[in-house]
Amino acid sequence: ARAEALSGTSGPGATADGHPVPLLANVGGPKDLEAALANGAEGVGLYRTEFLFLDRADAPSEEEQQAAYRAVFDAFPGGRVVVRTLDAGADKPLAFLPPPGEEPNPALGERGLRMFRRHPDMMAAQLGALARAAEGTEAIPYVMAPMVATVAEAAWFAEACHAAGLETAGIMIEVPSAALRARDLAKVVDFFSIGTNDLTQYAMAADRQVAGVSELQDPWHPAVLDLIALAAGAAGAAGKGCGVCGEAGADPVLACVLVGLGVTSLSMGAPALPWVRASLARHTLDQCRAAADAARSAPGASEAKEAARACLTGLG
Ligand code: PEP
Ligand code: MG
Repeated sequence: ARAEALSGTSGPGATADGHPVPLLANVGGPKDLEAALANGAEGVGLYRTEFLFLDRADAPSEEEQQAAYRAVFDAFPGGRVVVRTLDAGADKPLAFLPPPGEEPNPALGERGLRMFRRHPDMMAAQLGALARAAEGTEAIPYVMAPMVATVAEAAWFAEACHAAGLETAGIMIEVPSAALRARDLAKVVDFFSIGTNDLTQYAMAADRQVAGVSELQDPWHPAVLDLIALAAGAAGAAGKGCGVCGEAGADPVLACVLVGLGVTSLSMGAPALPWVRASLARHTLDQCRAAADAARSAPGASEAKEAARACLTGLG
């Protein structure tokens, strides 16, 4: 049954009627490349570079960073590799860079790009290492910042990328303010990538680390789908790409809904790639759009899932 479910679905991601949806892998470093390639990833949609910085007494040197970035670039000649700058803080504290004071709500504290605002030298070092790693690579390097809440932050980051010689700068959409004002953000960056894990956490005000509120940490909530539709719509109107790199993209049903909402690429942990590729291959773009409309019209997460499923046949 497994072989049958996945049959006829190798190659680039696309809907049944041929609408391309690049399928990319989430990686934490060179160690994850083998699984990404084995599962047919067309590139990397999220390289979580913080793993290079965690569990150590001092920051990695620029040479060490450069080597780790280059290894991932070199695995995808001709493919896109989206590198996310350091997303430390909150659940991922850095031993060599403690927060300036007590944070009663670390998820709302100095994490992601906010940390670089206080340590621009660290951002310059990372962007410099990335620019050198990108020199002469055949991959298409994209760079994006996590935890962006304002247009000023996005513009500041894009400018720093360009100053370092990195052409394609984007942001993650994982804070509701960014989704709500995506139209303005699309004017200052080249692409969006929606982090549905954090976008759900912040939209639902439910800490992703707290088991007691896990029911709210569900990207099927129509409020989250509305925010995704806003971001994808603004990107589309500006002629820019809008991917998803949170866990939501790894759900074969929700993946179709995301495409129906206007998302242009999906990035996920490598094991999910064949299932999502097969699910997209069985549904037309119109079916995905109908499923997205049905899900957004539902009153809650479970009803949204049911409504989408009813539109998407043959999901087994
Ligand atoms: C997300 O928030 O959805 C995301 C992809 O980033 P992370 O899970 O690393 O916070
Ligand atoms: Mg995130």
